[in-house]
Amino acid sequence: MFNYTSISDECIKCGKCIPVCTIHQINPDETTSPRGFIDLLGAHERGELDIDRNAKQIFESCFLCTNCVDVCPKDLPTDMVIEEARKEIADKYGIAWFKRLFFFLLRHRKIMDIASKLGYVFKSCAVRTDEKRGGLIPRFNLPIIKKDRLLPSMASTSVLNSYPENIDHGGKRRVAIFIGCLANYNYTDIGHGLVKILKRLEIDIFFAKEQKCCAAPAYFTGDFKTVEVLSKQNIEYFESFIDRVDAIIVPEATCSAMIKHDWAVFFRNRGEEEWAMRAQRLSEKIFMATEWLANHTELSSLLEKSGVVGDLLVTYHDPCHARKVQNIYKEPRELIGRNYRMKEMSDPNRCCGFGGVTIQTEKFHLAEAAGKPKAAMIDETKADIVAAECSACRMQIGNSLYQAESKAIFKNPIELIADALEKSGK
Ligand code: SF4
Ligand code: SF4
Repeated sequence: MFNYTSISDECIKCGKCIPVCTIHQINPDETTSPRGFIDLLGAHERGELDIDRNAKQIFESCFLCTNCVDVCPKDLPTDMVIEEARKEIADKYGIAWFKRLFFFLLRHRKIMDIASKLGYVFKSCAVRTDEKRGGLIPRFNLPIIKKDRLLPSMASTSVLNSYPENIDHGGKRRVAIFIGCLANYNYTDIGHGLVKILKRLEIDIFFAKEQKCCAAPAYFTGDFKTVEVLSKQNIEYFESFIDRVDAIIVPEATCSAMIKHDWAVFFRNRGEEEWAMRAQRLSEKIFMATEWLANHTELSSLLEKSGVVGDLLVTYHDPCHARKVQNIYKEPRELIGRNYRMKEMSDPNRCCGFGGVTIQTEKFHLAEAAGKPKAAMIDETKADIVAAECSACRMQIGNSLYQAESKAIFKNPIELIADALEKSGK
Protein backbone atom coordinates (compact mmCIF):
# COMPACT_ATOMS: atom_id res chain seq x y z
CA MET A 1 0.00 0.00 0.00
CA PHE A 2 1.11 3.56 -0.61
CA ASN A 3 2.07 6.02 2.08
CA TYR A 4 0.36 9.17 0.78
CA THR A 5 2.09 11.43 3.31
CA SER A 6 5.59 10.42 2.27
CA ILE A 7 4.69 10.76 -1.43
CA SER A 8 3.26 14.17 -0.69
CA ASP A 9 6.45 15.09 1.23
CA GLU A 10 8.59 13.87 -1.66
CA CYS A 11 6.86 16.17 -4.15
CA ILE A 12 9.20 19.15 -4.54
CA LYS A 13 6.41 21.26 -6.12
CA CYS A 14 8.57 21.88 -9.18
CA GLY A 15 5.46 22.08 -11.38
CA LYS A 16 6.97 20.10 -14.26
CA CYS A 17 3.83 17.97 -14.32
CA ILE A 18 1.42 20.90 -14.62
CA PRO A 19 1.68 21.84 -18.32
CA VAL A 20 1.43 18.21 -19.47
CA CYS A 21 -1.50 17.25 -17.22
CA THR A 22 -4.58 16.42 -19.31
CA ILE A 23 -7.15 17.50 -16.71
CA HIS A 24 -5.21 20.65 -15.79
CA GLN A 25 -5.17 21.65 -19.47
CA ILE A 26 -8.99 21.60 -19.37
CA ASN A 27 -9.51 22.81 -15.81
CA PRO A 28 -6.50 24.96 -14.83
CA ASP A 29 -6.94 24.65 -11.10
CA GLU A 30 -4.31 23.48 -8.58
CA THR A 31 -6.72 20.90 -7.08
CA THR A 32 -7.04 19.16 -10.44
CA SER A 33 -3.30 18.86 -11.05
CA PRO A 34 -0.88 16.04 -10.23
CA ARG A 35 0.71 17.82 -7.27
CA GLY A 36 -2.77 18.93 -6.17
CA PHE A 37 -4.04 15.33 -6.15
CA ILE A 38 -0.95 14.26 -4.21
CA ASP A 39 -1.38 17.11 -1.70
CA LEU A 40 -5.03 16.20 -1.13
CA LEU A 41 -4.17 12.56 -0.50
CA GLY A 42 -1.42 13.56 1.95
CA ALA A 43 -3.95 15.72 3.82
CA HIS A 44 -6.43 12.82 3.77
CA GLU A 45 -3.91 10.46 5.34
CA ARG A 46 -3.13 12.97 8.06
CA GLY A 47 -6.85 13.14 8.88
CA GLU A 48 -7.23 16.70 7.59
CA LEU A 49 -9.44 15.87 4.61
CA ASP A 50 -12.43 13.61 4.36
CA ILE A 51 -13.02 11.92 1.00
CA ASP A 52 -16.46 13.46 0.54
CA ARG A 53 -18.49 13.76 -2.68
CA ASN A 54 -16.55 16.86 -3.69
CA ALA A 55 -13.24 15.00 -3.33
CA LYS A 56 -14.80 12.09 -5.24
CA GLN A 57 -15.49 14.42 -8.18
CA ILE A 58 -11.91 15.70 -8.06
CA PHE A 59 -10.26 12.27 -8.05
CA GLU A 60 -12.57 10.99 -10.78
CA SER A 61 -11.48 13.79 -13.10
CA CYS A 62 -7.94 12.45 -13.62
CA PHE A 63 -7.49 10.83 -17.05
CA LEU A 64 -4.82 8.39 -15.77
CA CYS A 65 -2.78 9.37 -18.81
CA THR A 66 0.55 9.05 -16.87
CA ASN A 67 1.91 12.25 -18.46
CA CYS A 68 2.78 13.47 -14.96
CA VAL A 69 4.67 10.27 -14.10
CA ASP A 70 6.62 10.55 -17.35
CA VAL A 71 8.05 13.98 -16.50
CA CYS A 72 8.26 13.88 -12.70
CA PRO A 73 11.91 14.19 -11.53
CA LYS A 74 11.00 12.33 -8.33
CA ASP A 75 9.27 9.45 -10.19
CA LEU A 76 6.15 9.89 -8.09
CA PRO A 77 3.44 7.33 -8.95
CA THR A 78 0.58 9.83 -9.23
CA ASP A 79 -1.56 7.56 -11.43
CA MET A 80 -1.27 4.69 -8.98
CA VAL A 81 -2.17 6.71 -5.89
CA ILE A 82 -5.23 8.02 -7.73
CA GLU A 83 -6.22 4.43 -8.57
CA GLU A 84 -5.91 3.63 -4.85
CA ALA A 85 -8.00 6.69 -3.97
CA ARG A 86 -10.67 5.50 -6.40
CA LYS A 87 -10.81 2.16 -4.62
CA GLU A 88 -11.46 4.00 -1.36
CA ILE A 89 -14.14 6.07 -3.11
CA ALA A 90 -15.74 2.92 -4.59
CA ASP A 91 -15.72 1.25 -1.16
CA LYS A 92 -17.37 4.30 0.41
CA TYR A 93 -19.90 5.36 -2.22
CA GLY A 94 -20.34 2.18 -4.26
CA ILE A 95 -20.06 1.85 -8.02
CA ALA A 96 -22.83 3.04 -10.37
CA TRP A 97 -25.22 0.31 -11.58
CA PHE A 98 -24.17 0.50 -15.22
CA LYS A 99 -20.49 0.12 -14.35
CA ARG A 100 -21.27 -2.87 -12.12
CA LEU A 101 -23.25 -4.39 -14.99
CA PHE A 102 -20.39 -3.74 -17.41
CA PHE A 103 -17.80 -5.29 -15.08
CA PHE A 104 -20.12 -8.27 -14.50
CA LEU A 105 -20.20 -8.82 -18.27
CA LEU A 106 -16.41 -8.51 -18.46
CA ARG A 107 -16.13 -11.26 -15.84
CA HIS A 108 -18.54 -13.58 -17.70
CA ARG A 109 -17.50 -13.95 -21.32
CA LYS A 110 -20.30 -16.33 -22.31
CA ILE A 111 -22.95 -13.87 -21.14
CA MET A 112 -21.01 -11.04 -22.82
CA ASP A 113 -21.07 -13.08 -26.05
CA ILE A 114 -24.87 -13.32 -25.84
CA ALA A 115 -25.28 -9.64 -24.91
CA SER A 116 -23.04 -8.66 -27.82
CA LYS A 117 -25.06 -10.83 -30.25
CA LEU A 118 -28.33 -9.29 -29.00
CA GLY A 119 -26.81 -5.83 -29.36
CA TYR A 120 -25.82 -6.61 -32.94
CA VAL A 121 -29.29 -7.93 -33.85
CA PHE A 122 -31.27 -5.08 -32.28
CA LYS A 123 -28.81 -2.23 -32.83
CA SER A 124 -30.83 -0.62 -35.61
CA CYS A 125 -33.60 0.20 -33.07
CA ALA A 126 -31.36 2.59 -31.14
CA VAL A 127 -28.48 3.54 -33.42
CA ARG A 128 -27.64 4.22 -37.03
CA THR A 129 -24.44 3.06 -38.70
CA ASP A 130 -21.74 5.40 -39.99
CA GLU A 131 -20.13 3.16 -42.64
CA LYS A 132 -17.21 5.46 -43.42
CA ARG A 133 -16.05 5.66 -39.82
CA GLY A 134 -17.13 2.15 -38.88
CA GLY A 135 -19.16 3.31 -35.88
CA LEU A 136 -22.66 3.67 -34.49
CA ILE A 137 -24.56 6.89 -33.72
CA PRO A 138 -27.37 6.78 -31.10
CA ARG A 139 -30.70 8.05 -32.45
CA PHE A 140 -31.74 9.43 -29.06
CA ASN A 141 -30.24 10.17 -25.66
CA LEU A 142 -29.59 6.93 -23.75
CA PRO A 143 -29.37 6.95 -19.91
CA ILE A 144 -25.58 7.24 -19.91
CA ILE A 145 -24.74 8.02 -23.54
CA LYS A 146 -25.91 11.14 -25.30
CA LYS A 147 -27.11 11.03 -28.89
CA ASP A 148 -25.05 12.12 -31.91
CA ARG A 149 -21.89 10.58 -30.55
CA LEU A 150 -19.80 8.03 -32.45
CA LEU A 151 -19.75 4.71 -30.61
CA PRO A 152 -17.81 1.54 -31.45
CA SER A 153 -19.26 -0.68 -34.16
CA MET A 154 -20.65 -4.14 -33.29
CA ALA A 155 -19.72 -7.38 -35.00
CA SER A 156 -22.05 -10.32 -35.64
CA THR A 157 -19.37 -12.72 -34.36
CA SER A 158 -16.54 -11.98 -31.98
CA VAL A 159 -12.94 -12.63 -33.05
CA LEU A 160 -12.51 -15.40 -30.46
CA ASN A 161 -15.60 -17.15 -31.84
CA SER A 162 -14.44 -16.77 -35.46
CA TYR A 163 -11.43 -19.10 -35.33
CA PRO A 164 -10.43 -22.52 -34.05
CA GLU A 165 -8.19 -22.61 -31.01
CA ASN A 166 -5.14 -23.66 -33.04
CA ILE A 167 -4.31 -22.29 -36.48
CA ASP A 168 -1.49 -24.10 -38.22
CA HIS A 169 0.39 -21.98 -40.75
CA GLY A 170 3.04 -24.63 -41.21
CA GLY A 171 5.51 -22.55 -39.27
CA LYS A 172 8.30 -23.31 -36.85
CA ARG A 173 7.04 -20.66 -34.44
CA ARG A 174 3.81 -20.24 -32.53
CA VAL A 175 2.30 -17.24 -30.77
CA ALA A 176 -0.80 -16.76 -28.65
CA ILE A 177 -3.10 -13.81 -29.29
CA PHE A 178 -4.62 -11.78 -26.48
CA ILE A 179 -7.21 -9.83 -28.37
CA GLY A 180 -8.75 -7.38 -25.85
CA CYS A 181 -12.50 -6.78 -25.43
CA LEU A 182 -12.95 -3.88 -27.88
CA ALA A 183 -11.08 -5.70 -30.65
CA ASN A 184 -12.90 -8.92 -29.83
CA TYR A 185 -16.46 -7.54 -29.99
CA ASN A 186 -16.26 -4.21 -31.79
CA TYR A 187 -13.21 -3.47 -33.91
CA THR A 188 -12.89 -7.04 -35.16
CA ASP A 189 -10.83 -6.19 -38.27
CA ILE A 190 -7.83 -5.88 -35.93
CA GLY A 191 -8.03 -9.59 -35.02
CA HIS A 192 -8.72 -10.66 -38.60
CA GLY A 193 -5.81 -8.52 -39.79
CA LEU A 194 -3.46 -10.06 -37.23
CA VAL A 195 -4.39 -13.57 -38.43
CA LYS A 196 -3.64 -12.54 -42.05
CA ILE A 197 -0.24 -11.11 -41.07
CA LEU A 198 0.76 -14.21 -39.09
CA LYS A 199 -0.37 -16.44 -41.95
CA ARG A 200 1.88 -14.52 -44.35
CA LEU A 201 4.76 -14.90 -41.90
CA GLU A 202 4.00 -18.62 -41.50
CA ILE A 203 3.64 -18.31 -37.73
CA ASP A 204 1.17 -20.66 -36.04
CA ILE A 205 -1.49 -19.20 -33.76
CA PHE A 206 -2.87 -20.30 -30.44
CA PHE A 207 -6.17 -18.43 -30.02
CA ALA A 208 -6.34 -18.48 -26.24
CA LYS A 209 -10.09 -19.06 -25.99
CA GLU A 210 -10.37 -18.91 -22.20
CA GLN A 211 -8.78 -15.46 -21.93
CA LYS A 212 -10.67 -12.94 -19.84
CA CYS A 213 -10.69 -9.14 -19.92
CA CYS A 214 -7.32 -7.73 -18.78
CA ALA A 215 -9.26 -5.83 -16.05
CA ALA A 216 -8.05 -2.34 -17.01
CA PRO A 217 -11.58 -0.78 -17.04
CA ALA A 218 -12.20 -2.05 -13.49
CA TYR A 219 -8.72 -1.01 -12.28
CA PHE A 220 -9.19 2.58 -13.42
CA THR A 221 -12.62 2.69 -11.73
CA GLY A 222 -11.49 1.37 -8.34
CA ASP A 223 -13.25 -2.02 -8.62
CA PHE A 224 -10.30 -3.98 -7.24
CA LYS A 225 -12.31 -7.15 -6.59
CA THR A 226 -12.94 -7.48 -10.33
CA VAL A 227 -9.24 -6.81 -11.02
CA GLU A 228 -8.24 -9.57 -8.61
CA VAL A 229 -10.69 -12.12 -10.07
CA LEU A 230 -9.87 -11.43 -13.73
CA SER A 231 -6.10 -11.14 -13.37
CA LYS A 232 -5.81 -14.34 -11.28
CA GLN A 233 -7.93 -16.30 -13.76
CA ASN A 234 -5.85 -15.00 -16.64
CA ILE A 235 -2.53 -15.68 -14.90
CA GLU A 236 -3.51 -19.31 -14.19
CA TYR A 237 -4.70 -19.73 -17.77
CA PHE A 238 -1.63 -18.11 -19.37
CA GLU A 239 0.67 -20.31 -17.25
CA SER A 240 -1.05 -23.39 -18.70
CA PHE A 241 0.27 -22.64 -22.22
CA ILE A 242 3.09 -20.10 -21.85
CA ASP A 243 5.87 -22.67 -22.37
CA ARG A 244 4.30 -23.76 -25.67
CA VAL A 245 4.32 -20.31 -27.34
CA ASP A 246 7.08 -17.86 -28.26
CA ALA A 247 5.02 -14.89 -27.13
CA ILE A 248 1.57 -13.61 -26.27
CA ILE A 249 0.95 -10.71 -28.64
CA VAL A 250 -1.56 -7.98 -27.91
CA PRO A 251 -2.71 -5.46 -30.55
CA GLU A 252 -3.90 -3.10 -27.79
CA ALA A 253 -1.76 -0.69 -25.73
CA THR A 254 -3.99 -0.55 -22.66
CA CYS A 255 -4.47 -4.32 -22.36
CA SER A 256 -0.79 -4.92 -22.95
CA ALA A 257 0.28 -2.35 -20.33
CA MET A 258 -2.21 -3.77 -17.83
CA ILE A 259 -0.97 -7.36 -18.31
CA LYS A 260 2.73 -6.61 -18.62
CA HIS A 261 3.01 -3.90 -15.99
CA ASP A 262 -0.05 -3.31 -13.83
CA TRP A 263 -0.93 -6.86 -12.75
CA ALA A 264 2.39 -7.26 -10.92
CA VAL A 265 2.16 -3.76 -9.43
CA PHE A 266 -1.42 -4.42 -8.29
CA PHE A 267 -0.50 -7.60 -6.42
CA ARG A 268 2.70 -6.13 -4.99
CA ASN A 269 0.75 -3.16 -3.61
CA ARG A 270 -1.68 -5.58 -1.94
CA GLY A 271 1.14 -7.63 -0.40
CA GLU A 272 0.41 -10.66 -2.61
CA GLU A 273 4.03 -11.25 -3.58
CA GLU A 274 3.54 -14.74 -5.02
CA TRP A 275 0.91 -13.52 -7.51
CA ALA A 276 3.11 -10.52 -8.30
CA MET A 277 6.00 -12.87 -9.14
CA ARG A 278 3.75 -15.03 -11.32
CA ALA A 279 2.55 -11.96 -13.23
CA GLN A 280 6.15 -10.75 -13.52
CA ARG A 281 7.31 -14.05 -15.00
CA LEU A 282 4.55 -13.97 -17.63
CA SER A 283 5.36 -10.38 -18.55
CA GLU A 284 8.60 -11.47 -20.24
CA LYS A 285 6.52 -13.03 -23.03
CA ILE A 286 3.89 -10.27 -23.36
CA PHE A 287 4.38 -7.90 -26.29
CA MET A 288 2.40 -5.29 -28.12
CA ALA A 289 1.71 -6.73 -31.57
CA THR A 290 3.73 -4.19 -33.58
CA GLU A 291 6.63 -4.43 -31.13
CA TRP A 292 6.90 -8.21 -31.53
CA LEU A 293 6.27 -8.20 -35.28
CA ALA A 294 8.88 -5.48 -35.90
CA ASN A 295 11.59 -6.91 -33.62
CA HIS A 296 11.09 -10.68 -33.85
CA THR A 297 9.96 -11.37 -37.42
CA GLU A 298 10.92 -10.43 -40.97
CA LEU A 299 7.69 -8.43 -41.42
CA SER A 300 9.47 -5.09 -41.85
CA SER A 301 11.59 -6.29 -44.79
CA LEU A 302 8.61 -8.11 -46.26
CA LEU A 303 6.63 -4.87 -46.20
CA GLU A 304 9.57 -2.92 -47.62
CA LYS A 305 9.57 -5.12 -50.70
CA SER A 306 5.95 -4.12 -51.35
CA GLY A 307 6.73 -0.39 -51.44
CA VAL A 308 4.11 2.32 -51.03
CA VAL A 309 0.70 0.79 -51.80
CA GLY A 310 -1.35 3.90 -52.45
CA ASP A 311 -1.49 7.62 -51.85
CA LEU A 312 -3.07 7.52 -48.39
CA LEU A 313 -1.48 9.85 -45.85
CA VAL A 314 -1.21 8.45 -42.30
CA THR A 315 -0.42 10.19 -39.02
CA TYR A 316 0.36 8.21 -35.86
CA HIS A 317 -1.01 9.01 -32.39
CA ASP A 318 0.96 7.66 -29.41
CA PRO A 319 -1.36 5.92 -26.94
CA CYS A 320 -0.37 6.83 -23.36
CA HIS A 321 -0.16 3.15 -22.43
CA ALA A 322 2.16 2.43 -25.36
CA ARG A 323 4.71 5.25 -25.32
CA LYS A 324 4.75 6.35 -21.69
CA VAL A 325 4.18 3.00 -20.01
CA GLN A 326 5.93 0.62 -22.46
CA ASN A 327 8.22 2.89 -24.49
CA ILE A 328 6.66 1.62 -27.74
CA TYR A 329 6.53 4.28 -30.43
CA LYS A 330 9.18 3.44 -33.05
CA GLU A 331 7.84 0.02 -34.10
CA PRO A 332 4.34 0.99 -35.29
CA ARG A 333 5.81 3.95 -37.22
CA GLU A 334 8.47 1.75 -38.77
CA LEU A 335 5.95 -0.84 -39.99
CA ILE A 336 3.32 1.63 -41.24
CA GLY A 337 6.00 3.76 -42.91
CA ARG A 338 7.04 0.88 -45.17
CA ASN A 339 3.85 1.17 -47.22
CA TYR A 340 2.18 4.50 -46.44
CA ARG A 341 3.14 8.13 -46.66
CA MET A 342 3.38 9.48 -43.11
CA LYS A 343 3.23 12.90 -41.52
CA GLU A 344 3.67 13.63 -37.83
CA MET A 345 1.03 15.68 -36.02
CA SER A 346 2.27 18.57 -33.86
CA ASP A 347 2.01 16.63 -30.56
CA PRO A 348 1.43 12.90 -31.11
CA ASN A 349 2.17 12.24 -27.44
CA ARG A 350 -0.69 14.42 -26.17
CA CYS A 351 -3.38 12.29 -24.48
CA CYS A 352 -6.48 11.72 -26.65
CA GLY A 353 -8.75 12.22 -23.63
CA PHE A 354 -10.33 8.76 -23.34
CA GLY A 355 -9.91 8.66 -19.58
CA GLY A 356 -11.77 5.41 -18.74
CA VAL A 357 -15.35 4.34 -18.06
CA THR A 358 -16.27 7.22 -15.72
CA ILE A 359 -15.00 9.94 -18.04
CA GLN A 360 -16.65 8.29 -21.06
CA THR A 361 -20.03 8.26 -19.25
CA GLU A 362 -20.62 10.55 -16.25
CA LYS A 363 -17.91 13.06 -17.17
CA PHE A 364 -18.10 12.97 -20.94
CA HIS A 365 -17.77 16.77 -21.16
CA LEU A 366 -14.15 16.32 -20.03
CA ALA A 367 -13.49 13.76 -22.80
CA GLU A 368 -15.03 16.17 -25.33
CA ALA A 369 -12.85 19.05 -24.14
CA ALA A 370 -9.66 16.95 -24.19
CA GLY A 371 -10.55 15.49 -27.59
CA LYS A 372 -10.88 18.78 -29.48
CA PRO A 373 -7.18 19.74 -29.60
CA LYS A 374 -6.27 16.19 -30.65
CA ALA A 375 -8.78 16.25 -33.51
CA ALA A 376 -7.50 19.69 -34.57
CA MET A 377 -3.86 18.58 -34.73
CA ILE A 378 -4.82 15.49 -36.74
CA ASP A 379 -6.80 17.68 -39.14
CA GLU A 380 -3.84 20.05 -39.57
CA THR A 381 -1.79 17.20 -41.05
CA LYS A 382 -4.49 16.67 -43.72
CA ALA A 383 -4.05 12.95 -43.11
CA ASP A 384 -6.60 10.48 -44.45
CA ILE A 385 -5.97 8.11 -41.56
CA VAL A 386 -4.91 8.44 -37.96
CA ALA A 387 -3.48 5.23 -36.58
CA ALA A 388 -2.86 4.09 -33.00
CA GLU A 389 -2.51 0.64 -31.53
CA CYS A 390 -5.25 1.17 -28.99
CA SER A 391 -9.02 0.75 -29.25
CA ALA A 392 -9.71 3.07 -26.33
CA CYS A 393 -7.93 5.83 -28.32
CA ARG A 394 -9.96 4.74 -31.34
CA MET A 395 -13.25 5.16 -29.49
CA GLN A 396 -12.25 8.61 -28.24
CA ILE A 397 -10.42 9.96 -31.31
CA GLY A 398 -13.04 8.49 -33.65
CA ASN A 399 -15.71 10.54 -31.91
CA SER A 400 -13.56 13.67 -31.70
CA LEU A 401 -12.94 13.50 -35.46
CA TYR A 402 -16.62 12.89 -36.13
CA GLN A 403 -17.60 15.91 -34.01
CA ALA A 404 -15.00 18.04 -35.81
CA GLU A 405 -16.30 16.82 -39.20
CA SER A 406 -12.77 15.80 -40.09
CA LYS A 407 -12.12 13.69 -43.18
CA ALA A 408 -9.63 11.52 -41.27
CA ILE A 409 -10.69 8.09 -40.12
CA PHE A 410 -9.08 5.83 -37.52
CA LYS A 411 -7.26 2.53 -38.12
CA ASN A 412 -5.18 0.25 -35.91
CA PRO A 413 -1.68 -0.24 -37.45
CA ILE A 414 -2.44 -3.96 -37.72
CA GLU A 415 -5.32 -3.21 -40.10
CA LEU A 416 -3.08 -1.00 -42.25
CA ILE A 417 -0.31 -3.60 -42.37
CA ALA A 418 -2.74 -6.40 -43.26
CA ASP A 419 -4.24 -4.22 -46.03
CA ALA A 420 -0.78 -3.46 -47.42
CA LEU A 421 0.17 -7.14 -47.44
CA GLU A 422 -3.08 -8.03 -49.13
CA LYS A 423 -2.66 -5.37 -51.83
CA SER A 424 0.97 -6.28 -52.48
CA GLY A 425 0.06 -9.99 -52.66
CA LYS A 426 -2.38 -9.45 -55.52
S1 SF4 B 1 -2.49 10.95 -14.86
FE1 SF4 B 1 -2.77 12.56 -16.46
S2 SF4 B 1 -4.67 13.64 -15.90
FE2 SF4 B 1 -4.03 12.43 -14.11
S3 SF4 B 1 -2.84 13.84 -12.85
FE3 SF4 B 1 -1.36 12.77 -14.17
S4 SF4 B 1 -1.15 14.04 -16.00
FE4 SF4 B 1 -2.98 14.76 -14.92
S1 SF4 C 1 6.64 16.85 -11.33
FE1 SF4 C 1 6.59 15.48 -9.55
S2 SF4 C 1 7.80 16.53 -7.98
FE2 SF4 C 1 7.29 18.08 -9.56
S3 SF4 C 1 5.36 19.02 -8.82
FE3 SF4 C 1 4.77 17.35 -10.19
S4 SF4 C 1 4.46 15.59 -8.82
FE4 SF4 C 1 5.64 17.11 -7.66
